[in-house]
Amino acid sequence: MRGSSFDARSMQLVDIGANLTHDSFDRDRDAVLERARAAGVVQMVVTGASREHSPKALELARAHPGVLFATAGVHPHHAVEYTAECDAQMRELHRHPEVVAVGECGLDYFRDFSPRPAQRKAFERQLEIAADLAAAGNPKPLFLHQRDAHADFVAILRAFEGRIGPAVVHCFTGTREELFDCLDHDWHIGITGWLCDERRGAHLRELVKHIPAQRLMVETDAPYLLPRTLRPMPKDRRNEPAFLPHIVEELARDRGEDPATTAAASTATARAFFRLPEAG
Ligand SMILES: [Zn+2]
Repeated sequence: MRGSSFDARSMQLVDIGANLTHDSFDRDRDAVLERARAAGVVQMVVTGASREHSPKALELARAHPGVLFATAGVHPHHAVEYTAECDAQMRELHRHPEVVAVGECGLDYFRDFSPRPAQRKAFERQLEIAADLAAAGNPKPLFLHQRDAHADFVAILRAFEGRIGPAVVHCFTGTREELFDCLDHDWHIGITGWLCDERRGAHLRELVKHIPAQRLMVETDAPYLLPRTLRPMPKDRRNEPAFLPHIVEELARDRGEDPATTAAASTATARAFFRLPEAG
C-alpha cells in the first residue's frame, strides 16, 4: 500500500455500486464483506442489473440487514429482456424496503449489446416505475448508467421531469460538458476507480473538483474496474468494496481535500440519497 495518513478504519464509507451477486464472489462472499468492514466500508448498495440478478441482490440485502441494500433494474445491455413479465417482476421487487433504488437502468451506445430502440424502451419503462412509486408516496431514487448516449439520455429523463425523484449517474466517465449538464439537472455523480485509469480516466482528475460535495458519491463497481493505481494488485484482478478507500484517497487528492473530508461528505450524501440508516 502507498504511504498515507488516511486511516480508512476510522471512516465510514458507503459503496453505492457493488455487483456482489456476480459469480466471482460465490466462493468467498462472506470474506469479501468482512474485508469491506475492516476497511471502513460499512454499507454497500448491491447493484441489481438484470432479471436474474435483481432478485439475487434483494436476497443478499435481506441476509445482511442494515449493511447491504439492493437496487432492482435492467441494465441497457439486457434491455431485450424487458418484457411485460419483466416489468411486473421489477414492480414486485420494488415493494420491498431493502430495494432502495430503481436501476441500474439507462443507455449504453458504446457496446450496443441491445438494440438502441430496445434500450430506450426499457429505460422509459423503468422511469415509469420510478414515477409510479413517487406518485404512490414511496419515492425511490434512480441509479443510472449512461455511456456514449448523453443526448438521448437527457432527452428521455427530461420527459419525466417533475415526476421522478433524485438520480445518480453512476460511474460517470463523460466529458466536462456532460458533467456540467448533469449538475445543471441536479443529478448526483458516482465516481469509481475509472478515475485511476491513466488511459481512459485522466480527464476526470480535473473534472471531479467541480462536483459539489452534496452531489458526489463513491463506488467500486466491483468486481469490475479494479483501480489501476492500487498496490499491491490482487492476482485475480477482481475489484471488491474493500478497495473503496483507495478510490476515495485518489479522489480527495484531485479535489484538493483531506480524504477524511471526502469520505464523510460522500457518506452523508449517500445516506441522504438512498435514505440509509446509520450503520449499526
Ligand atoms: Zn453501469
